[in-house]
Amino acid sequence: MVSHGHVSLDHERVVARRGERSGATAIVAIHSTRLGPALGGVRIWSYHDDAEGLHDAIRLSAGMTLKAAAAGLELGGGKGVICMPEGGFADAEARRDALLDFGDLVESLGGDYVTAEDVGASPEDLVTIAERTSHVTGLPADRGGSGDPSPLTALGVERAIEACLEERFGSPDPAGRRIAIVGLGHVGGALAGLLAERGADLAVSDIADASRERAGELGAAWLDPATATESECDVLAPCALGGVVDHASVHRLHCGAICGSANNQLADDSMAAELERRGILYAPDFLVNSGGLINVAREIHGYGAAEALGMVEAIGDSTRRVLARARSESITPLDAARDLASARLGEPERPAADATLPRLVA
Ligand code: NAD
Repeated sequence: MVSHGHVSLDHERVVARRGERSGATAIVAIHSTRLGPALGGVRIWSYHDDAEGLHDAIRLSAGMTLKAAAAGLELGGGKGVICMPEGGFADAEARRDALLDFGDLVESLGGDYVTAEDVGASPEDLVTIAERTSHVTGLPADRGGSGDPSPLTALGVERAIEACLEERFGSPDPAGRRIAIVGLGHVGGALAGLLAERGADLAVSDIADASRERAGELGAAWLDPATATESECDVLAPCALGGVVDHASVHRLHCGAICGSANNQLADDSMAAELERRGILYAPDFLVNSGGLINVAREIHGYGAAEALGMVEAIGDSTRRVLARARSESITPLDAARDLASARLGEPERPAADATLPRLVA
C-alpha cells in the first residue's frame, strides 16, 4: 500500500477515465476557472498506481491556479495526467492511442480545461492530442503554437534568483555565487546557460549521464544526483521533479536560498516554516516558474512575444515584493505569495484549510 500523503480536494472538477483505445487511465483535474480556462500541461508518467497519478493531478492543478493568478494571467488552474504502463508504452501506436484518448477527454470538458506540455510530453504529442481537441496550447511554432516554453521559464527563474541573491546577500549579481542546478533538462539546461554567461560558480546534476558533457561545456562542477540537493551553495535550483524538500531532506540542506523551476518543491506547506527556521530563503515555485505559462497563454490571449517577455522579466520584481513583504510581516514567502494570488482570485487571505470533495467522474 502506497501512501499518497495529504491532498486538499477543493477542485471544481476531477475527471478520471480509462482510455477506450489504450486502456491507459487519463485524468484531468480542474482546480479553478475563476479567472479563465484552466490551463495546465499533461504529464505522461509511469505511476505506482492510478491513485498516485490522481494525487499528482490534484496537487499540480491547485498549483496552476496559484501560478496563473500570481502571474496576473486571465487563466485558471488545471492539470492533465496520462498514466503510462510500467516500463513505458509498448510501441508508438500504444502511445498514440493514449494521446488520442486524452484528447477526447479534454474535448469533453468543452474548453474549461486547456492542455499544454509537461514532463514526459513533447510538442509532437500535443499535435497528436490536437487531432481530437482544439483546446491545446504549446504546439510547435510551425503548427501556429508558441513553441518550447522552457527558455522563458528559465529566464523567469533567473530573474527570481537575482531577487533571492539581493534579499539574502545584498546584491542581485550571480557572478561568483555558487548556484546548484538539480535537473539539467529543458529548463535546467537553459538556466545553466544563462547563469554561466553571468559568471556564476555553477554546479549541476542530472540522473542522465549524458548531461555530464553539457556540464563540461558550461564549465560547471558535477554533483552526484543522489546527494546534489545537499550540496553547499548560495542558491539551490531544483529543476527536476517536485517534493525535494521533505521532513527528512530539509535537515540535510546546505543552501542559502531555494529557487528553481520544479513544481511542488515542498512535500507539504509546513516545509516553508521549517526552511525559515533553518535560515533558508524559499522563493515559492509557482511564483518563479510561470515564464512558460505566460508564453503559452499567448496562444489563448493573442498577445505578442515582446509583451510576454516583459511579463516574464516582471517575475523578478514580483519575487522581490513577495520576499520583502515576508520579511517585513514575519510570514513565510509561501504565505506572502499565496496572499498575492488570493488577492487576485478575490479570496480572503490564507483561506481556511477545510476541504470539500471534488466531483469524481468515472
Ligand atoms: P525535463 O524533463 O526536460 O528535465 C528534467 C530533468 O531532470 C531531466 O534531464 C531528468 O533526467 C532530470 N532528473 C529527473 N530526476 C532527477 C533527479 N532525481 N536528480 C537529478 N536530475 C533529475 O523537464 P523540464 O521541462 O526541464 O522541467 C523541469 C521541472 O520544471 C519540472 O518539474 C516541470 O514541471 C517544471 N516546469 C517546467 C516548465 C517548462 O517550461 N518546461 C515550466 C514550469 C515548470
